[in-house]
Amino acid sequence: MTYEMIAVEDLGPVRRISHDRPEFRNAESRQLLDELDDAVTAAIAEEAVRVLVLAGTGDHFSAGHDLKEAQRERAQFTVEERWAYEEQRYFDYCLKLFNAPKPVIAQVQGACISGGFMLANMCDIIIAADDAFFADPVAHSLGAAAVEVLVHPWVLGHRKARELLYTGGRLSAAEAERAGMVNHVVPRSELEAKTLEIANRIAAAPPFTLKLLKRSLNRSLEAQGFGVALAAHFDTHQLSHVSEAFKSIRDKGLAGAIDKGRELK
Ligand code: ZN
Repeated sequence: MTYEMIAVEDLGPVRRISHDRPEFRNAESRQLLDELDDAVTAAIAEEAVRVLVLAGTGDHFSAGHDLKEAQRERAQFTVEERWAYEEQRYFDYCLKLFNAPKPVIAQVQGACISGGFMLANMCDIIIAADDAFFADPVAHSLGAAAVEVLVHPWVLGHRKARELLYTGGRLSAAEAERAGMVNHVVPRSELEAKTLEIANRIAAAPPFTLKLLKRSLNRSLEAQGFGVALAAHFDTHQLSHVSEAFKSIRDKGLAGAIDKGRELK
């Protein structure tokens, strides 16, 4: 596959896969997500790659799913069509990253919103620039019950997750670090160096050991019901897509939803 919307770089044992549509705040279109999944699959298969970094070029990690494309191509999807599209591209792609048998680090600056939020939180570790902010405003902007993968309470704790989702507000990098969702916050100019420093340190451990360790850490979440809870929410989220609230916002145009989202603080 030739990539047009992502950038892939090998930096020693580290492979960095970046959203690469900076002129669209790295909005995740169908093509971008298909390329991302292809690159993740290849990185998993390649023995020389010990650690993955998931990033975004330009000022933002990602503003989330490409709502302009969604309005153009998917506004009139049937329940069956939307289910299939979102299960593959939003749910399964995310879970593949979570279950990747190698550590994955998210390198986050600027906006990390909705689809970007759920993807970054599939990673083992998050390093954020001090200008990073996190949000999932879709209850307000789209009438959707959060994004497809309800990872929020698992990474933020229930209080912070509820406030973030109910208000549609933003969490700063510093707040996200205090809540335990982000590992380190560094000045924007040091983001890449700090991420690679940690990635290289991890890459020094034997890969099979890391694979087993990640397996056990993932299973400790599975033992608490992680996978079942995410799968149950995916179903509920699909129901919200056929609600009157969602339909009325969609009929006014999802581009308006983007602007509304921007106004939220
Ligand atoms: Zn959806």
